[in-house]
Amino acid sequence: MHVHTTRGSTDSGLSPAELVAVAVELKLDGVCITEHGENWSEAELRELAGGTGLALFSGREIETDVGHVLAIGLLRYEAGLHRFAALAEYAAKNGVALVLAHPFRHHTDPPAGQTCLLTAGLPEPPAGAEALAKAIPELAQVHAIEAANGATSQADNELAAAIAGVVGSPTTGGSDAHSAHGIGSGLTRVNGEPRSSAELAEAIRAGITNAVTERPGGSS
Ligand SMILES: [Zn+2]
Ligand SMILES: [Zn+2]
Repeated sequence: MHVHTTRGSTDSGLSPAELVAVAVELKLDGVCITEHGENWSEAELRELAGGTGLALFSGREIETDVGHVLAIGLLRYEAGLHRFAALAEYAAKNGVALVLAHPFRHHTDPPAGQTCLLTAGLPEPPAGAEALAKAIPELAQVHAIEAANGATSQADNELAAAIAGVVGSPTTGGSDAHSAHGIGSGLTRVNGEPRSSAELAEAIRAGITNAVTERPGGSS
């Protein structure tokens, strides 16, 4: 549900063809590409999947004032969507699904020079999932919370999962891979069979997704 390729993310070293090859090898059913700077059209996704049978979807990872948000089913970026309030309004009107990406990355034990985009702005971030959920209303304003991000510490992922439980939010998982390494290290189960990015957005909005942490083809 969350991966970057060289086509639309300047910080990625993963070519689209390599992504498809590894995803097929891992026997994933589908992949949702969430570039920082480009959108994939449905025709381009079909062409990329070729005859592999892999279902490909697209969204966009937007850097907003409350951190990174995956906008699944967003057709094109529009000015102003970096403000969460504007993005939420746009999503409601256009059937876009919003997923709060790695909400607590760098919250627990932040590495030197790093802060958590979501909690750093709070004068004094409260401890515990319930208090945090109260202090950050946006947590309840997205359609899902990413609770298994392959590029985020286990403690920060566990906090995201706990918060999702508190606010009653569905969850997603995604590798956030920027190279072949790590693809599949965060997965989403979709209780349905979406066939397009719009249908995937609909499934997320309907709350029928959940994060899966075990690696494909094996445990943990
Ligand atoms: Zn991000
Ligand atoms: Zn990302």
